Order: sequence, then C-alpha cells, then structure tokens
Amino acid sequence: MRRATWEQRADEVESLLRLLFRAYEGRVALSASFGGGGVVLAHMVSRIDARVPVLFLDTGFHFPETIAFKQRFAQRYGLRVVDLSTAHDATPDGLYRTDPDRCCRARKVEPMRRALADYDVWITALRREQSETRQSIGVIEQQEVDGRSILKVMPLARWTRRDVHEYLAANGVPSHPLLERGYTSIGCWPCTRPTVAGESERAGRWSGTAKTECGLHAFARRKGRAV
Ligand code: SF4
Repeated sequence: MRRATWEQRADEVESLLRLLFRAYEGRVALSASFGGGGVVLAHMVSRIDARVPVLFLDTGFHFPETIAFKQRFAQRYGLRVVDLSTAHDATPDGLYRTDPDRCCRARKVEPMRRALADYDVWITALRREQSETRQSIGVIEQQEVDGRSILKVMPLARWTRRDVHEYLAANGVPSHPLLERGYTSIGCWPCTRPTVAGESERAGRWSGTAKTECGLHAFARRKGRAV
C-alpha cells in the first residue's frame, strides 16, 4: 500500500535526526515554542533520544495555555526542556507596543544567541509554506553565530501544515489548545491574534504592523546551504 506523504517525510526526518544525534552527541539542541511543527520534532526527539535539550524561549509574555501545554507535553514525553529567559524587568513596560523589534531582541534573539554558544547544531521547525520570508530556507544550512560556524537544521522545511496535522493525529500526539480557537501561529499574547479563512498562517503575528518576524531566524548569517 502506498504510504502517505507525511509518513515518507517523517521517516526522512527521523533518519536525519538519528544521524545528527549520533554525529553531534551532546552538541545538538532543538528549539520549540510548542505551537505547531515544534511539537512534531519534540515528539521525534522523545522517541529517538530524550536527552537532547529542547530550548524554549520564556519571553514572559506567553499565553497561559502555552506554558501549561509545554509543561504537560514535556512531562508526558519525558523531554528535557530548557527555559531560556532574559532579565524581563530590564525592558520597559509596554515595549512590545512602542518598539517590538527591541522587545523581541531582548526576549528572544539575545537569549537564543547566548544559548547557542553551547551547541554546534540548532534544529528548528521552520517550514517554507509558513510565509514569504521562509520560502527559501534549506533543510540544512551552515550559519555563523558570533563568528562561530553552526549547522541550522530545518527538517520540516518541505512540510505542509497538513503534514504536521496528519503526523500528530496519526501518532496520537496532542497539539496546542489555541489552534482549535483559530490561532494558526502562536507567539506572545500581546502580538498574536487568531486568523480568519483566507489569511496566511502567520497573519496574526504583529498584525497591523509591518513586522513579520521576531528576528530569531535572522541573527545568524547564512554561509551556504548544505541540502
Ligand atoms: S513577540 Fe511581542 S511580546 Fe514577544 S518578545 Fe516580541 S515584541 Fe515582545
């Protein structure tokens, strides 16, 4: 019987993760916000090697549902979640309104940049389909962070939203509760709204402004695409 696309893609991703976990033992981390594809990768990590750390950016502005879901998920699958936070009181109140780029830099970019000093491989759940700015991502890219070369791996680059949904359903893996309430991309509560039919997946992020990305996937410099 012919296998579904998501099954073939899941096999490929699992093989890639196994290879990376063996070749870079102790030097690999997954970052996940537990909103969408990150849940797929976190589930695979739990099946392959639950010692691999799952980095979670604790911005101080997550929906309570995100924090609760992350905790339940980590417990259920025995994951080693590492909360990355910054001195939240170091940024003025309401900075997300007056200068969201600075807010993202302080609460997302800098904590991730500091954390990556401990790793040679950074795995993320970015998908090409998510937005125009992500259409050219590779599955594996060599990038430079603070003058150091790392591999940024995006195993779900070719996955569709439907692949993610089908993987989770077929494996009985729970998904973020806000997805059912119209949030197609889930970030910090001040900067996220549900979307409506016809809108792009990330249209609810920083809605009404020109901002489309937090900068988390732009601070490292791409040196080439390996795959
Ligand atoms: S998404 Fe909004 S609240 Fe979260 S760090 Fe960025 S600007 Fe601040």
